[in-house]
Amino acid sequence: MIEYAGIRDRHRHELDQRRMRAYARIPELQELEQQTPSLAMDLLRKRLLAASPQEGGSDAGHPSFRETAAQISRRRTQLLTQNGFPPDYLEMTWDCPDCRDTGYIGHEKCRCLRRRETAVLYDQSNLEMLAADADFSNLSESYYTGEDLERFRHARRTCERFVDEFDRVFRNLYLYGTVGTGKTMLSVCAARALIEKGKSVLYFSAASLFDRLADCTFGSGTRDALRDFTGDLYNCDLLIIDDLGTEFTNAFVASQLFSCISERELNRHPTIISTNLSLKEMQARYSDRVFSRITSTYEICKLTGKDIRLQRRRRGRRA
Ligand SMILES: [Zn+2]
Repeated sequence: MIEYAGIRDRHRHELDQRRMRAYARIPELQELEQQTPSLAMDLLRKRLLAASPQEGGSDAGHPSFRETAAQISRRRTQLLTQNGFPPDYLEMTWDCPDCRDTGYIGHEKCRCLRRRETAVLYDQSNLEMLAADADFSNLSESYYTGEDLERFRHARRTCERFVDEFDRVFRNLYLYGTVGTGKTMLSVCAARALIEKGKSVLYFSAASLFDRLADCTFGSGTRDALRDFTGDLYNCDLLIIDDLGTEFTNAFVASQLFSCISERELNRHPTIISTNLSLKEMQARYSDRVFSRITSTYEICKLTGKDIRLQRRRRGRRA
């Protein structure tokens, strides 16, 4: 809430500065704005007089408040545009027009607040760093050839559709392939596009996710901490579990994975899993029930090819 107050202060300050600039260039505008309150008082007085019985109760000939306000506002816009300012130059602006930087719409938390909360809670700086230039249009096809390229294109199309239809179609993605074939990059591109749409996105490497769950369950954390964490995990708009299979897998991990997948499915919140594990390996590692959930409710994209990171390094050396 302190952050929001700061944001509103910043916008008010910026508006004041814009007003000073506009007044400096357009003295008439300043007069107009300073007169507005007294004009309104004048009108009110006239209308009250006009409406009094002695005057016959007629207010004919006196423009209404609304008309006068509209006239003033038209003149104001005119002055601004004639002097090279945009027509909305003296309007208040907001980082989030939905809640006007208050964090709430009525009693409901605005999506910008939910996003802020998750970012603060889970230190998603990792994701922000990864996502800095993550855009589907920046992805290069030059690392793939032949069948690898076909697979990559299919996976990219699938991810783009996942983003485009996010609000309409409930989908999950299982991106699998060997190291360095672009799985993480695709999921980060999807994450970034959805964050820009105001969705709450949580991104975890499998190792850090299960570490955190174990810590909340067995460690020093309170029961509340576990409940809060799983609440976010099960309810954020998009959850990405990266590199599934690189963690130390045990019965606890397998059962947590199952809960996570099935809770999110129940709540109709999409999940993206990226992994080196083939479906068969995944089944062997996490149990049949995880396998059957994923194969029945996830779109599966296979990626193949040479390790992009190695190729990049080689190209860098040649350059
Ligand atoms: Zn908001």
